[in-house]
Amino acid sequence: MTEKDTLSILGDGDCLYEASVSPPIFQTSTFGGGGEYSYTRLSNPTRRALEKETAKLEGGKHAFAFSSGLAAINSVFSLLKKGNRVVVSDDLYGGTYRLITKIYQNYGIEFVFADMSSAQAVKTEIEKGADMVFAESPTNPMMKIAPLREIGEMCKQTGAVFVVDNTFLSPYFQNPLALGADITIHSATKFLSGHHDTVAGIAVTNRDDIAEALGMISMTLGNALSPFESWLVLRGIRTLPLRMQKHQQNAFALAEYLKTLPQIDKVYYPGLPEHSGHELCKSQSSGFGGVVSFTVKDAGTAKRLIKGGKIIKFAESLGGFCSLITYPLTQTHASIPEEMRQKIGITDRLLRLSVGLEDFADIKADITKMLEG
Ligand SMILES: *Cc1c(COP(=O)(O)O)cnc(C)c1O
Repeated sequence: MTEKDTLSILGDGDCLYEASVSPPIFQTSTFGGGGEYSYTRLSNPTRRALEKETAKLEGGKHAFAFSSGLAAINSVFSLLKKGNRVVVSDDLYGGTYRLITKIYQNYGIEFVFADMSSAQAVKTEIEKGADMVFAESPTNPMMKIAPLREIGEMCKQTGAVFVVDNTFLSPYFQNPLALGADITIHSATKFLSGHHDTVAGIAVTNRDDIAEALGMISMTLGNALSPFESWLVLRGIRTLPLRMQKHQQNAFALAEYLKTLPQIDKVYYPGLPEHSGHELCKSQSSGFGGVVSFTVKDAGTAKRLIKGGKIIKFAESLGGFCSLITYPLTQTHASIPEEMRQKIGITDRLLRLSVGLEDFADIKADITKMLEG
């Protein structure tokens, strides 16, 4: 094979790329030829394929893939300026809380925590002045539902940028941009990739001004997702609808089963008709997701559960094929101060279960055995 032959094979790359049913991984740092792509920190075709796909799923115009969910959140917070005021869900992913309190509060940016399940509480804070409103719905771990349309309307009227962390429902069940959000964020580590094998984040927006700023931020902070990880998330997305349906089916069954058990105190799953946000969730989402939180009657039971089972593993994270049980107190929400944890309800009796894709009979048998110790 001559050097010329090799070059012609490489030269065919573009059309082969189009023809590939699964896009190739462009594992390159730099691109010659002065075309659309120049350097992978700025853009890369595999990452672009993922960004296009997630933009489409969220009904957005622009998407940016980051090296983690937190990198996506950090990039969105990088839109803020000194003196800005931000209203945030009081029940929040622990890492986002740490990012706010350990980093951004040092930069002269004010963050206030509000109960986002109450439109009135959000309104009161927005009226005091807000440059950004950041909501999770359902919240992590208490599964509270925020009235996204109402908050979106308030933000539109005041000019606050409305950001929704949509990790828990995934774009399959909820599209915050259609409900009035300016930016929707995902920890793609969770349901989007779905296989416990990658850490990634996504931000999607319809606003050209925000997209321009986020493009600059991503290029400047250097926190864009690698080609290989982009490919993994893209692969996960291929089965997102099937997985979300099964996650939800198992979550419903588990929530119903937990309710019948004497060791269980309360079950928090928005799919249950008695959940305080059930009707609201139904009005703005097409499903309730695959995460169930619950309290047990005594902390001893919680200690037994976090030993894990045969198929339910004791581990952080959620949204993958494997059922994971998490103890927010010592894991995901350990960085939240005791007083705030108490207020939200994160006690030594609270557990969160990301219900996996296993046969429900196996999940049921496992949790039953775990409860017996
Ligand atoms: C996990 C998670 C994050 C952080 O994502 P990473 O990919 O772990 O950085 C942010 N928000 C929510 C709701 C999460 O569950």
